[in-house]
This record gives sequence, structure tokens and C-alpha cells, in this order.
Amino acid sequence: MSQYKCLICGYETDAPEAGDVGACRGNTARFRDRLHNLWKCPNCFTIHNIDPVDFEDIYRDYPLNKRCLDIYARGTLSNLLRRLRRAGLTKQASILDYGCGNGVFVQYLEEKSYTDVSGYDPFVAAYSKQPERQFDCVVGNDVIEHVADPRQTIRECSELVRPGGLLYLGTADSEPVKMNDLESHLMRLHQPFHRLIVTEKALHALAEETGFEFVRSYRRSYMDTLIPFSNYRFLDEFSRALGHDMDLMLDPASAKVMLRRPRLWFYAFWGYFFPSAFEPAVVLRRPLNQGASK
Ligand SMILES: [Zn+2]
Repeated sequence: MSQYKCLICGYETDAPEAGDVGACRGNTARFRDRLHNLWKCPNCFTIHNIDPVDFEDIYRDYPLNKRCLDIYARGTLSNLLRRLRRAGLTKQASILDYGCGNGVFVQYLEEKSYTDVSGYDPFVAAYSKQPERQFDCVVGNDVIEHVADPRQTIRECSELVRPGGLLYLGTADSEPVKMNDLESHLMRLHQPFHRLIVTEKALHALAEETGFEFVRSYRRSYMDTLIPFSNYRFLDEFSRALGHDMDLMLDPASAKVMLRRPRLWFYAFWGYFFPSAFEPAVVLRRPLNQGASK
């Protein structure tokens, strides 16, 4: 078996081109001083982390699981909810947030009077029970880049959608990351947590495999809003100002970096118009007549 095999398109090689491999540091306190080895498939441009991984270990102290439902989270999650409402989500719908982390979106939906909301995350004790029913809407937001096999996870998610129900899949984007300039993309690379980062085209191809109908697709990040501070570019610049340390980003005391970096204020208000990365997403509907998905 080849040492480098693309899980998305099946391309394989024993001797990758020098321009398709690279190493970068992580963007959390624990992983920022370690190098993580990446390979970009020359056929479908999926970026793979090629190091062995122990998921239990890397998620045991995952900083994003300390995220709270603050004003910034509310701004971006309101945009995510708007996408679901546009696809027909009602307050009575049963909703599963698959890969919910510490449950900020679950909390947000409950706060907005959604009455039947569940979360699942194998690495968070409070949400680790596997769902045993189907839902009107399954949300897999920022999930497929975190798993060993995105296709398998999409299959699991789609089987949890009732016929006629909705599936939302959103993920990081591997375009136009150059393997010889990984440092400027540390936030989206988010090593070693992002195991595979696909392109928008690959996401659409994976979505198509479900046999579900396309309701809508998005290129911009759900985090990109016109609400001050709630846009991807601002987060990216804020991350850079803090040396790409997500633990620091989540520490309220870090806000004082705003005093030293006036350009952050510019991006806080206008960052929406200067995106530094996209985060493609699709909203799909399971056909009423579809039995078990492929
Ligand atoms: Zn590939």
C-alpha cells in the first residue's frame, strides 16, 4: 500500500512531489511548538495530516470546548441558524448538533426556544451518548475536517436524518493554501485537529454521494457576518496578533491586544469585506422516498 493515499479521491503515491508536502505548527498552547506533517493531494487538493493520531488524547483538553456563548458566538451562530431557517427549520423541529463540542449551539438553540435539541460529541462526556433516533435536522458544522474518515462521518450523519429532513455540512477550505506557506494559514489548518481539509468541490462531491437533494450551498464562512467582531478575517487577524494561540484567543484578558494593534479595529468592523479564507457549506434534504442512504 502506498504511503500517501487520498481518502477523498483515492489518488496514491509513494513519492509525493516536494511542493505537495509541508509541516506547520499547531495553533493551541499545547501544539504550537510541535510540527505537524501535511500532504496535499495533487488530484483533488485535499490536505491530509499524515501523522498518527490518538483522538482521545488530543481532545482531552481541547481549548474550543471551553468556548462560551458570548456576544461573538451569538453573532456567528445566529448566521448559522439563519441558514437553517431559510431551508425551512421550525422551532418544533428535532435537531441534532453532531460533533457539538461543549454544546454552545445546542444552548443557543434552546435559548431561542427550539424545543427538541440534542448534541452528540464522542469526546465530551455530557454529549457522548450516541443518538438512537432520526431527526428533522442534523447539523455537522466544522466536523468532517476533525475525523479520520469524512465519508464515513457524512454517512453516519445522513442516516440520522429522517426522510424529508435536512442535513447541514460545513467545513474548512484547503484552497488556496500553498504547502510552502503554511504559517499564514495556521488558523484554518488548526493542527493537529484538522485531519483532512477538502475543497468546496470535494465537499460538493461528498454531499452528492448521499443521494440527498441540494437545497443551497455557501462559500463564505458562517462566521462571516456584518456584526462587529463576528467575521472570519477579524478572528484570523486577532489570532495572528496573539501568535496563533487559540487558548489565548479564548482568554478574555487577551482583548487588550486591541489597544496595541489599531488595524484589528478596522477588521472588527470591516473584515467581512476582506475574507482571508472561506468555509464551504451545503444544506441537503433527504428525499422522502429514500430508504437507507448509500
Ligand atoms: Zn485526492
